[in-house]
Amino acid sequence: MSMNSLLIKGGYGEHGRSCFLFPFGSDRYAMLDCGIMDTDPSPYPQVEPELLAKTEYLFLSHCHKDHSGAFGHFRRQGFGGFLVTTAPTLKFAGIDYEKTILLRDPGEEIREPVSLKGGLALTYGRSGHCAGGIWVHLTGPMGSILYSGDYQRRALAYQTDVIAGCRADLAILDCAHAEHEENGDLLRARMTARMGEILGEGRRLIMPLPKYGRGLEIVCMLRQALPAARIAVDDTFRRLTGETLAWERWIRPEAAGQLRQFLAGAPECRENWEKAQILLLGDTHLEKEENRRLVREQVKAGAKVLVTGRVKRGSCTESLLEEGAAFAMPYPHHQSHGDLMEMMEENEFRTVMAFHSGRKEVFIAFE
Ligand SMILES: [Zn+2]
Ligand SMILES: [Zn+2]
Repeated sequence: MSMNSLLIKGGYGEHGRSCFLFPFGSDRYAMLDCGIMDTDPSPYPQVEPELLAKTEYLFLSHCHKDHSGAFGHFRRQGFGGFLVTTAPTLKFAGIDYEKTILLRDPGEEIREPVSLKGGLALTYGRSGHCAGGIWVHLTGPMGSILYSGDYQRRALAYQTDVIAGCRADLAILDCAHAEHEENGDLLRARMTARMGEILGEGRRLIMPLPKYGRGLEIVCMLRQALPAARIAVDDTFRRLTGETLAWERWIRPEAAGQLRQFLAGAPECRENWEKAQILLLGDTHLEKEENRRLVREQVKAGAKVLVTGRVKRGSCTESLLEEGAAFAMPYPHHQSHGDLMEMMEENEFRTVMAFHSGRKEVFIAFE
């Protein structure tokens, strides 16, 4: 086998566990993300300790567990190379590691590539997925590789440095919403139309949301599409949204104002249930007992639960879906298949590997 090969350790043909390695220089490797599959009894990507010992750089695209969750495990297994990432990613992933190369917050100004050992050069940009989330473009002895991380160019709250006019031998691109051809704007329009119907029936809507990520997007979406809807939030959602807003360079300025205004006016849900139509809970799998109780009571009274992300096996959201009390519509926080095609049109990629979904797709350009 040629040593000049991409090693896929997770994230291809599965939604989670993202982890890719490529060789550069003599017998040295670089890793793209180190995620886990938290629904799997064996959650880690299988990377041999000898390979971890030869891994000079680990590029971390963002804080979510399916991209960062194996860091501690890999440290224990012998990873001692440099971690290359952004400040919000370190903070939200809870990583404290001496050999970290902290990337400056990306901005409008044209940036020189970051020079690394072994002839590697890195450019990066904001991926529109969460505070600290980046895509990376690496050039070096192995050629050029673009890794999108989790990416959405039509984000409402987060800044995106759009990937366009880029050349790469290999592009590893987010296509988590492989079953959809529509872009983010259309998927959001469909979601808010359905929400409008439910509210029109006089029912309440409950949205369990993750700690860091699409919660801010959903507030912006609701303010734009359903401006009259009365929304309440729980403490966790309020606190985490406030924390994320502190990372200004990652948030669209117009969204930051809207979000601050929203947080200042949004009532606390538990005391204000009667007045609210939509409840945002910072508990994506409904793991807190008090939230499960609240949701159960409200479902009995006719409320619907809207699930906008991945469903954890054995969770309360899974049973609510099975019972028909909840329905699922993915928030376009990733690329759809149509978005992937659009990105391929706007860039020059020789080989494209779509990752982050159960579907396996590779595109190879013939000369
Ligand atoms: Zn993510
Ligand atoms: Zn992900």
